[in-house]
Amino acid sequence: MFQKLKPPKEGEKIEFVAGKLMVPDNPIIPFFKGDGIGLDVVPAAIKVLERAAELIGKSITWFEIYAGEEAYKLYGNHLPEDTLNAIREFRVALKGPLTTPVGGGYRSLNVTIRQVLDLYANVRPIYYLRGVPSPVKEPEKVNFVIFRENTEDVYAGIEWQRGGKETLKLIEILEKEFGTKIRRDSGIGIKIISEFATKRLVRLAIKFAIENKRRSITLVHKGNIMKFTEGAFRDWGYEVAKQEFGEFCITEDELISKFEGKNPEGKIVVKDRLADNMFQQIILRSEEYDVIALPNLNGDYLSDAAAALVGGLGIAPGSDIGDGIAVFEPIHGSAPKYAGQNKVNPSAQILSGALMFEWLGWKKASEMIKKAVEMTIQQKTVTYDLHRQIGGKIVGTMEFAEEVIKNLETL
Ligand code: NAP
Repeated sequence: MFQKLKPPKEGEKIEFVAGKLMVPDNPIIPFFKGDGIGLDVVPAAIKVLERAAELIGKSITWFEIYAGEEAYKLYGNHLPEDTLNAIREFRVALKGPLTTPVGGGYRSLNVTIRQVLDLYANVRPIYYLRGVPSPVKEPEKVNFVIFRENTEDVYAGIEWQRGGKETLKLIEILEKEFGTKIRRDSGIGIKIISEFATKRLVRLAIKFAIENKRRSITLVHKGNIMKFTEGAFRDWGYEVAKQEFGEFCITEDELISKFEGKNPEGKIVVKDRLADNMFQQIILRSEEYDVIALPNLNGDYLSDAAAALVGGLGIAPGSDIGDGIAVFEPIHGSAPKYAGQNKVNPSAQILSGALMFEWLGWKKASEMIKKAVEMTIQQKTVTYDLHRQIGGKIVGTMEFAEEVIKNLETL
């Protein structure tokens, strides 16, 4: 199955049987460091995760796989089949950031991983850890989870360069067949939003809301302008809620007309907001949002903006989820200027691991990690980025992880 990788002999595989994840006490978990600061933050996160697993009586057998520059050196390919096969086979990976060239070069490896493995939802919890500097007055009110569609929209990578043969042909066809006027010096990208991809995303978001006793789900879109893509996203989202989760969901209209604005116990309110409005909503009225589902491009923007409310990129974890398969990664990129300096904040990578533990069903260990990171920041033993804002004792990436482990031991 593998060209160059040798899977570990110890540990057991996570299985997915009849739609359910079966996680052994000693799972094999593939990981790759990726590029830039991935080489600093991934080893630091692994140390913390290993200890947290031990503390709840589990053990992880790590399986190193490769993507990005390291993979290129080994395979002559930035994203070898070996890596994708390992994630398919073992169903999970802890991922470091990957560098993406702008405007040319190879295609985004991040986008490719999501598409090839059909990791259709990018899930990012946005919650506040006490002690983290925030630009808002009441950051503790921020607590929502963003479900961003991961495979479609203008990010599907269906695009053509200005002046190319295909581009000019497409312009011609559109003009001849549909009377659409497009300047001949244009580059072209296609925006696709399907009923299938929208419904499976919203389905996942509603299931999450039910399982985690969340109170509302907000469909975010620009359907006023892009009616047949973004507008359809909204309509299909409401359809799933009504047709598949009717007993759990009520609409915002029903909330007002039938329940006098008071959400009855056990119900999830389904509402929608325009994307531009949503950017101010999450700042001014964040407590009104709980689970948020949205298409790819706006999801990308909104989730970074949301991360800023609770401390920014160094802190924010993320995940890419499919059916019985998932990859966990920080929101931040490879920040090449800091690579290999043992300087940057590993919290986002550590908290991505905590998110992975939740997915594995190891909720206790996940909570312990969040708590230990919070304690470390409150003790003001922090990396340069937080030190710049809150002062205290400045430490390197690995030393920060060691402080987190010390705090874990006290829980
Ligand atoms: P970035 O790598 O996230 O870095 C931007 C800035 O954010 C850094 O200069 C630093 O700010 C701060 N930062 C990021 N991670 C941090 C950490 N762990 N601790 C402390 N501060 C941190 O974004 P970028 O410079 O736009 O992108 C660099 C490369 O990463 C690009 O090739 C991009 O395509 C790629 N990227 C990959 C992913 C992914 O793999 N999922 C995601 C985003 C971007 P200061 O310099 O102000 O301290």
